Amino acid sequence: MATQPTRITDIGPPNYEQFLHPVIKKNYGKWKYHESLAPGVLCHVSETGERIYTVRAGSSRLLSIQTIRVYADLADKYSGGYLRFTSRNNVEFLLDNPDNIEPLKKDLAAAGFPVGGTQNAISNIVHTQGWVHCHSSATDASGIVKAVMDALCDRFTQQNLPAKLRIALACCLNMCGAVHCSDIAILGIHRRAPKVNHDNLKKVCEIPTVIASCPTGAIRSATVDGKPSVEVIEAQCMYCGNCYTVCPAMPLNDPENDGLSIWVGGKVSNARSAPRFSKLAIPFIPNNPPRWPEVVKAVVNIVEVYARNARKYERVGEWIDRIGWPKFFELTGIEFTRYHIDDFKNAGLTYARSTHLKF
Ligand code: SF4
Ligand code: SF4
Repeated sequence: MATQPTRITDIGPPNYEQFLHPVIKKNYGKWKYHESLAPGVLCHVSETGERIYTVRAGSSRLLSIQTIRVYADLADKYSGGYLRFTSRNNVEFLLDNPDNIEPLKKDLAAAGFPVGGTQNAISNIVHTQGWVHCHSSATDASGIVKAVMDALCDRFTQQNLPAKLRIALACCLNMCGAVHCSDIAILGIHRRAPKVNHDNLKKVCEIPTVIASCPTGAIRSATVDGKPSVEVIEAQCMYCGNCYTVCPAMPLNDPENDGLSIWVGGKVSNARSAPRFSKLAIPFIPNNPPRWPEVVKAVVNIVEVYARNARKYERVGEWIDRIGWPKFFELTGIEFTRYHIDDFKNAGLTYARSTHLKF
């Protein structure tokens, strides 16, 4: 592979090249094709004839030191210490000896990690920080994903869907979890504007910064009880939480009105059709921890209806395109409401979102 320029500082991450499996390093840029040997097991073949085997397992996403040590020990035992994490939080062991595949799968099963997520299966669900970590979350992340994946684990370990199915969760509409481009997306939503704590605002926030933080211009300066503060024009607020991020005196969380919405039909791939954004399926489901049964039921319903009705290789969005949205609502039994009518004027339809060229 091409020699990397010598680094003159230690700023930034170390060069990834030093962490590549020797077979990958040797065959960099020379991979010819790959094949699926079993659910969760891939084989990549190089022009030189060399092969690298991948065993993919679901991870618990928020990883304890103990879990990472389990992965590291398994990698030392079977894959020369080489593993990687995918963008959807699967852990992948990279093996050059196919004899190690079955023993590794056995040890992963014994440790409680299912192997799967490749080809026409559900991959691990990528999610954001949730109540564990982020101040602006409207819902939890890992808790809901655990409940949904428990119900859909067989769809991870078996390849029995029409096509690959990607599910994502973001705990607010800032969408660190890329829910806008997944087949099924679970999205936390706020439904009330931030409440301004006028007593604290001037002590902990800079008013010009707070006003500038609002993407819709919903925040104006105001004088309240003789003190400089701000007010929020509620009709202009889209509940994004940006102001709360720069100003702790503008909390957005609301136990009664925060909850989740479900979106469908997004994808990143440009195979067969261009990448597309997800669209609204269910506008609101209240938070119901610790197992969110209503969310689990809604997601499983969409997966099962898709599995029964889509054609081979059709992603969720492509299936809906073929049958039409009215049929989607009819088949899934989801109620169509006024919230489904998209009256937001933007350039979303004209932005180039793919590598396809228009002439
Ligand atoms: Fe925080 Fe929103 Fe990202 Fe969740 S999606 S981690 S609430 S910014
Ligand atoms: Fe503006 Fe977002 Fe704050 Fe609403 S939540 S006032 S849109 S920054």
